[in-house]
Amino acid sequence: MRHDPKVTKGVMSLIACWSLSLACGPKVTPIGPGNIYEPEEDERRIWVSMEAMSAKLQSSGLLYKDKRLEEYANGVLRRIMGEHGNAYVPLKPRVYILDSPIVNAFAMPHGDIYLHTGIVGRMRNEAQLAMLLGHEITHATHRHGYQKTEQAYDASGALAYISVLSAVGGENVFKLTNNLGSAITRAAIEGYGRSREEQADEVGLALMAQAGYLPSEGAVMFKRMETAAAADVKGGVLLYASHPKMKDRVRSCEQLVPRMPSELLEKATDIGQDRYLDVAIALIHDEVERQIVQGKFALAEESLATLERGRPDEARTFALRGELCRVRAKDGDIELAESSYKKAIARNPRASVALRGLGFLMLKNGNETEARKNLESYLAADPNASDADYVRQTLKSLAGE
Ligand SMILES: [Zn+2]
Repeated sequence: MRHDPKVTKGVMSLIACWSLSLACGPKVTPIGPGNIYEPEEDERRIWVSMEAMSAKLQSSGLLYKDKRLEEYANGVLRRIMGEHGNAYVPLKPRVYILDSPIVNAFAMPHGDIYLHTGIVGRMRNEAQLAMLLGHEITHATHRHGYQKTEQAYDASGALAYISVLSAVGGENVFKLTNNLGSAITRAAIEGYGRSREEQADEVGLALMAQAGYLPSEGAVMFKRMETAAAADVKGGVLLYASHPKMKDRVRSCEQLVPRMPSELLEKATDIGQDRYLDVAIALIHDEVERQIVQGKFALAEESLATLERGRPDEARTFALRGELCRVRAKDGDIELAESSYKKAIARNPRASVALRGLGFLMLKNGNETEARKNLESYLAADPNASDADYVRQTLKSLAGE
C-alpha cells in the first residue's frame, strides 16, 4: 500500500512548521506529528531486517554496560521528541550505547540509535547530547535510511569501507561492522549525503531548541568533534568528524540559531552540564583511561581538565590524572603523578588504578618499601586484575625470591 504524501495540519507546533520550512532536504513525507504514516511494503522489509540486525548487535556483547546512562539518553530523546505520544508511530525510537572508542553515532531506519562511547565521552552537556540525538533521529523520521538503501550500493564498495573501519578500530569494530548491513555501515561512516545531513542538522537543532535546550550548543557539539579529530594524533578513529563538510555544518548551525523565533530563543536556555557529568562521568573516565593507554594524551588532558573543574573531588579523576602524568612523563609530570595518586587514595583507599600507579612510580624512584606497600594494596583491592600475575611476580622479585 502506498502512503498518502499529504501532510495533515493540526498538532504541528509553531517550531515544527518553522523547522520543516527550513529543511531543504529531499522531498519525502517525514514521520512525525501531523502525518498519518504507513510504511511502504519494501520499506517495511528494510525495517524488519534492521530490527534483526539491531537485536544481533544488542546480544553481541558490544554494548556499554551502563543501564542508567542508557536510560538517561533515552530520557533526553523522549524530551526532544516532545509529548506527542504516538506522533512518531510506527517508529519506536530507542538509544543504545556501543563500547567503542570511535567518535561516531548512527541511526537505523526503524528508529534505533547507536552512540559509541567515544562520542558520548567527547560531549560535555545534555544540550550537546540533545543535538546529536536530534540529528540522528531525523535520519529515521525523514526516512534517510530508506532512500539510502534504495540506491543499492555495490558490495565491493561497502566491503572496502568495512575493511578500512576494521583496520582503524580493531576487533570490536570488525565484529560491529559484521553485524551491520553494508548500507547502514556506509551511512555510519560517511553520513547520508550532504542535503540529508543538512536536513538532520536543521531539524535536530529545532527539536533540541523546542525542548528548551540552548541551541548554540549544537554548533559547539560539532566543533568538539572536529577538534577531537585534530587532537587525535594517531588519527583514523573519529568518523563523525570525518563526515563531509563538517566545518560547513558548524557554520550552518551557527547561522540557523539567530534565525530562530525570538520567543523560542528566550525559553531555550537549558544546558544541563551537571546532569550530564553526573551520569556520564564513569564513561568519560573509561574513555580517558583508554586514551592514556593509546597515547592520545591531548584528548585525555582535555577531558581531565573538564572533570577537574566540574567534579573536583572524584578519586578516579585524581587517579587518572596520576596515570596521564606518569605515562606522559613530561617536565613536572612525575611529581604531579605522585601527588595526584595520593589524593586519589586519600579519597578512596581502594582506588586500584592509583595504588598500582603509585606502586610502579615508587619502584622507578627506588623506594622499594613504598612500592611494595602500594602494590600489595593494589592486589588486595583488585585481586582479579588483568595484570595481577605480573604484579605478584614483581613483588616476588622485590622480596628477592
Ligand atoms: Zn548524520
